[in-house]
Amino acid sequence: MYNKVDAEVVAELRQIVGEGNVLVKREDIEPYTHDEVVGLRADPEVVVKATSAQQIAAIFKLAQRKRIPVTPRGAGWGLSGGAVPVCGGIVLSLEKMNRILEIDKENLMVTVEPGVITGDIHRAVEAEGLFYPPDPASLDSCSIGGNIAEGAGGPRAVKYGTTMHYVCGLEAVLPSGDIIMCGGKLVKNVTGYNLIQLIIGSEGTLAVVTKIILRLLPLPKEQIDLLVPYDDFQAAADTVSAIIAQRIVPATIEFMERDSILAVERLLQKEVPYDDAEAHLLIQLDGNYREQVDADMEIVGELCLQHGARDVLVARDRPTRDRLWEARRKIIEALKHESPINHMEDVVVPRSEIPRLLKGVKEIAREYGVRIISFGHAGDGNVHLNVLKDDLSMERWEELVPRIEEAVYRLTLSLGGTITGEHGVGATRRRYLPLALDEAQIALQRRMRAAFDPNQILNPNKIFP
Ligand SMILES: Cc1cc2nc3c(=O)[nH]c(=O)nc-3n(C[C@H](O)[C@H](O)[C@H](O)COP(=O)(O)OP(=O)(O)OC[C@H]3O[C@@H](n4cnc5c(N)ncnc54)[C@H](O)[C@@H]3O)c2cc1C
Repeated sequence: MYNKVDAEVVAELRQIVGEGNVLVKREDIEPYTHDEVVGLRADPEVVVKATSAQQIAAIFKLAQRKRIPVTPRGAGWGLSGGAVPVCGGIVLSLEKMNRILEIDKENLMVTVEPGVITGDIHRAVEAEGLFYPPDPASLDSCSIGGNIAEGAGGPRAVKYGTTMHYVCGLEAVLPSGDIIMCGGKLVKNVTGYNLIQLIIGSEGTLAVVTKIILRLLPLPKEQIDLLVPYDDFQAAADTVSAIIAQRIVPATIEFMERDSILAVERLLQKEVPYDDAEAHLLIQLDGNYREQVDADMEIVGELCLQHGARDVLVARDRPTRDRLWEARRKIIEALKHESPINHMEDVVVPRSEIPRLLKGVKEIAREYGVRIISFGHAGDGNVHLNVLKDDLSMERWEELVPRIEEAVYRLTLSLGGTITGEHGVGATRRRYLPLALDEAQIALQRRMRAAFDPNQILNPNKIFP
């Protein structure tokens, strides 16, 4: 279906982006063969680092003419294989388009290129007393373009929403080579279909995003973090409902089950308080007035204790808060340390169904004889389930993973949930899409994709089975 990249194509690419921005040597393209999904790799035939929308338009025109697939890539920190060039062809890296173009303090907007690392946006706007809330745990490594493509979330989603709630304008290059500008520094805009929200979460299959205008908030002046251990996960879940019922919405409500805490202890070689507790909640309260945040903390602390918390550890200053968060931030690394081969799921259920989900997952783990360790966002129902290979043979592991995946998805869907909350379908979950979406929706989405990209040159073999 696709043609190979030949010397003529490479020469044309060099003309478009310059000699130094085209990589073809094996050792140079190796970093672009994978993202953060364990065990998924594919070789691009060429890697191109673009520096402008016009260059990307020219690359698309060439790729259309020669029928060569193009896979966009931000920082390669994805967890669904979206940036992996599974059909070969061109990897289009956005890493050099990494400028923060403007912080507009009057309109409370920041304009950035797609390759900017998300944490750099946080730091730049915070220096001006402003706040960009979406905070994927990978924020010091992933790019804002990747966040847009995946619809990335983070712990603060419970109060502040996800990437999709902050994008007011997008410049994008269509696979045809046309450059479009959707929206702008506009808080309101209902002119035509909402292409911004269609492109967000489209996993690099509809267009390549080349400029982004993000809405900002004033930076909250006060923050308090609470680490709360429980002997029973249900009690922790009941606390979450009780907090929300009091009309208090914390910035984050994360949970970590005991096995994840023990894994972090083994990695860091130090103790986490109450490491024998079945689950920990990590709650962050924020606001502008000390008295208000303190009053919320009193109510939340009291509710935690009423619902059976063993203690409520409070952190006000930055170093103590960082210490409380250290375990949460280190979980993924700790799980890799436990078992370098592991498999992460990203399911989401209504918040109240988390205890039933975790109970069902434990039964699945027992049935298949594997360890499945959970942590995630108790405030928004998004649970990361990590299946560890441990000392299973590779053959047994490869046979078990799809069966476990399907069992987990069927359980999640039976609880009113869905198969991915923030990591995307990508290459890894596409065969399960028909479990989550009906035929009519999949057919409609395929037609939408075809309207953008009739020749399927942009990121093929992603999302759809
Ligand atoms: C340790 C760890 C923690 C993580 N924590 C979180 C978390 O808390 N929340 C969360 O949501 N995710 C999390 N992730 C997943 C990941 O970091 C996010 O999906 C992130 O958005 C990926 O960004 P990236 O720049 O690395 O994208 P890449 O992996 O490079 O690409 C991801 C997808 O975006 C497309 N793409 C990239 N740039 C563009 C562009 N400019 N235009 C069009 N398409 C583009 C690619 O084609 C691909 O399909 C985590 C990952 C790791 C490894």
